[in-house]
Amino acid sequence: MRILVTGGAGFIGSHLIDRLMQQGHDVVCLDNFYTGHKRNLQPWMGHHNFELIRHDITEPIRLEVDQVYHLACPASPVHYQYNPVKTIKTNVMGTLNMLGLAKRVKARFLLASTSEVYGDPEVHPQPEEYRGSVNPIGIRSCYDEGKRVAETLAFDYHRQNDVDIRVARIFNTYGPRMLENDGRVVSNLVVQALRGDALTVYGDGSQTRSFCYVSDLVEGLMRLMNGNYIGPVNLGNPGEYTILQLAQTIQQMVNPGTSVKFEPLPQDDPRRRKPDITRAKTHLGWEPTISLDEGLERTIADFRDRVTPPTSQPES
Ligand code: NAD
Ligand code: UDP
Ligand code: UDP
Repeated sequence: MRILVTGGAGFIGSHLIDRLMQQGHDVVCLDNFYTGHKRNLQPWMGHHNFELIRHDITEPIRLEVDQVYHLACPASPVHYQYNPVKTIKTNVMGTLNMLGLAKRVKARFLLASTSEVYGDPEVHPQPEEYRGSVNPIGIRSCYDEGKRVAETLAFDYHRQNDVDIRVARIFNTYGPRMLENDGRVVSNLVVQALRGDALTVYGDGSQTRSFCYVSDLVEGLMRLMNGNYIGPVNLGNPGEYTILQLAQTIQQMVNPGTSVKFEPLPQDDPRRRKPDITRAKTHLGWEPTISLDEGLERTIADFRDRVTPPTSQPES
């Protein structure tokens, strides 16, 4: 099959492309390299089945493909809040263009949506029926409202134009290849611990998240794409941890000598988050297999190769 991956030079997209290429597909990657990098695709450069196109999805593009994995959008609050209007354009105009393309060529279209559509949830854990509690005018809304519109667009193209859609609501995902300056919690804490810096915990660290290792997530995306269930379906690891627990775990694994430093909690930071994955289990036969400890070990090993502790200055 010929498969388009938007945002394929990013963290999740590049792991997905590895799997698709290993299966022998023709893969086209579209990326504007905002948070993605060519080095994530290095093994496939020059491969006859692989094509990389520098393109911003807010502009139309014509391609002939059988499937579209639509992942293009910055995912870390630091990056999506840097230019919020651009984030909205990517989610709305970008998703519209990719749905227009899927409609024209009759390709199956998978949207990488997010647990952020549930906002700061009042229901715990979050099932797909929950409609969410989102602040429409806050600093996160460019991303979470943007993704809500993207879901609406996908379902309207499905109802109005018969586009064959799949919608995944992805929960916090981590693993090798996250950027050192990504800004999300796992990469921040691992980089700080490796450098011997204090680990930054926002607020009192009692807020919770559920962390899914990237290979599990990619398996879920591929099952969703190739099955019959449209979704939306939660993809995430139901293990729930406070951010302070996460910091202490990483501290113990990397460098027990580092300290924890508390910093202000960002505005609208969700208090709790944990997926109800009943639908994924039922319809996709999917559940995560990698524990947090195992996933962190692999992630830390990857960062260790890239992040070196500051060398001490020779005494003069
Ligand atoms: P990422 O930032 O590493 O990847 C996003 C990719 O999209 C990057 O390569 C970036 O350059 C590209 N991109 C951004 N705007 C673009 C545009 N206008 N045109 C073309 N390319 C553009 O993020 P990620 O963690 O790999 O996330 C991938 C997708 O999964 C995103 O849609 C994100 O919203 C979703 N998601 C991720 C998580 C997570 O925890 N990682 C959780 C929920 C949802
Ligand atoms: N589009 C695209 N590539 C295609 C087909 C469409 O980028 O192969 C864009 C198109 O330019 C439009 C959007 O997708 O901005 C929605 O397309 P659709 O055909 O649904 O709407 P229309 O073009 O009729 O407004
Ligand atoms: N966080 C933290 N220290 C950091 C980065 C993030 O305590 O260095 C917190 C953040 O406030 C949030 C949680 O960790 O409560 C997850 O943040 P992230 O940006 O990774 O993802 P999201 O908030 O989008 O789930």
